Amino acid sequence: MEIQRLSIKSLTITILIVIAGFSVLLSFVSGEYFFKAARESQLYSLNRVIQVATKEIMQQLHDQAYDIATALSIEGEIPKEFVKAVKGETKGELVKALDDPLITGFVGAYIIDLVKVRAYDLKLNFIAESHQGIQGLSPQMPKILYQQGYGRKGVARSKAISGLWQHADKSYYSVLVPIGGIFISGYLEVVVNPVNNLVRLSEKMNSPISIRSGIDPKRFYYEPKKSTEKLLPIEYELKTDLGASAFLLTSYEDIAKLSEGVKETVFNTISVFIGLVLIVLLIAIWLFQLLLFKPVNLMLNEIRNITDGDISRDLQVKGLAEIAILSGEFNKMTKEIRSREEVLTRLSVIDALTKIANRRKFDEVLKNEYLLGCRSGKPLSILMIDIDYFKQFNDTYGHLAGDDCIKKVATALKRSVYRPTDLVARYGGEEFAIILPDTTKSGERVIAEKIMSEIARLNIPHSSSSVDDKITVSIGGYAVVPSIHDDPVFIVAEADKSLYQAKGAGRNQFVLRNEFNSVI
Ligand code: GH3
Ligand code: MG
Ligand code: MG
Repeated sequence: MEIQRLSIKSLTITILIVIAGFSVLLSFVSGEYFFKAARESQLYSLNRVIQVATKEIMQQLHDQAYDIATALSIEGEIPKEFVKAVKGETKGELVKALDDPLITGFVGAYIIDLVKVRAYDLKLNFIAESHQGIQGLSPQMPKILYQQGYGRKGVARSKAISGLWQHADKSYYSVLVPIGGIFISGYLEVVVNPVNNLVRLSEKMNSPISIRSGIDPKRFYYEPKKSTEKLLPIEYELKTDLGASAFLLTSYEDIAKLSEGVKETVFNTISVFIGLVLIVLLIAIWLFQLLLFKPVNLMLNEIRNITDGDISRDLQVKGLAEIAILSGEFNKMTKEIRSREEVLTRLSVIDALTKIANRRKFDEVLKNEYLLGCRSGKPLSILMIDIDYFKQFNDTYGHLAGDDCIKKVATALKRSVYRPTDLVARYGGEEFAIILPDTTKSGERVIAEKIMSEIARLNIPHSSSSVDDKITVSIGGYAVVPSIHDDPVFIVAEADKSLYQAKGAGRNQFVLRNEFNSVI
């Protein structure tokens, strides 16, 4: 594409639209990023929620297990039977007592899944355990409890200790409390299965959950009742206090529902942004139109008018600084051209159409010759020549033919004078004037006759003339001996009077007069 064909307006609008397009595109891209970031932060917070909810459940589990353990270790059969068993008597009764809560139940049995009750002496040696509950445990305290309880002294011994531990691919939670209240005689361990409590995670997360074994992830302890296909799994790994994986807890979140709000926010933000971009675009185009395109167009039109010939005009364009400067400079330039043109016309002495002397030259020469005549005392003659019925000629043959006729008459007039000092000038329109210095009355007549014959020789048809069927002229002449008391303008006026007389007498003739007002 040629650059000259591109207008400022189309280029500017194209650039503005491209910028707006890119902004809109950018807003879509950033909207997508924003959406992803929001989703990631949602996932992060969901991870935190499941973690906190699980910890809360584990804390409740601990409290409930502790309550049971405390109740069993202070009241009822266990403390009594334990003392007997430690003294070396039979452990049978103690085992029965330990079995009791597992068989007959206890307060809160519906929430907590009690799976074993075990007793230890003060040195943490295994004493007895319930027959009921999980089987196959080795007769010793779980490592996690042992580590915490070993070597404790004084009141520290009466504090409960607890922990998650594993046995044969399953995880259990134990709470160890002293037996006998203030007078500690041993320890009672209450073992619970956390799955029963962890199921409540579903309530807390308000979504389906699954609980799997941390040791064997394929093994489900709890599975969601409904299909979780379209839901996003948020996983949390519950570890034992020794760092091994105990449970894999998964909450299934309806992320589409969660993203709805984000999507709406992104949509609203993008819409507002696009709206703003459009408004800015329209304002920019309007401002450009007002401050640039319109003034530039106006300026172009005005410049066209001026270059078409009307140099007298000045640009009247209001606009931005550059446009004001441009139009100011343009006005300076046309002003300069005008003044130069004036100088040129002033300096010009040649008539553009006929190429003979013009009125200015005539006035100049007349003044000069008049002054020379004043000094020399020689006569000076002026002839005024006017084409007869020229208006009709124009009307009949047209203006161009009229111009051509004026040119031919001028050459005929040139041919009618001989002396180098004689001056033939176009006085104006279809009027000519001739200065004949040092010319006597008889000389003036000779020239007038010569003119008449030269015009006749032109033989230019003039059907609408009332004197002839060819172009004719009327001549008025005046001859003086110049005097410093008179003015050359006066001779012209007198020659004009003679011309008027010639016209009045019927045209196609000459009237020559001299300073004594007599006809020569
Ligand atoms: P008259 O015999 O009384 O002189 O009649 P006229 O029609 O010649 O006189 P008038 O002064 O009424 O008209 C002169 C006409 O000459 C008017 C104008 O149309 C025509 N004319 C003046 N200058 C020019 C010119 O440069 N070119 C052309 N084609 N015509 C011109
Ligand atoms: Mg005239
Ligand atoms: Mg005329």
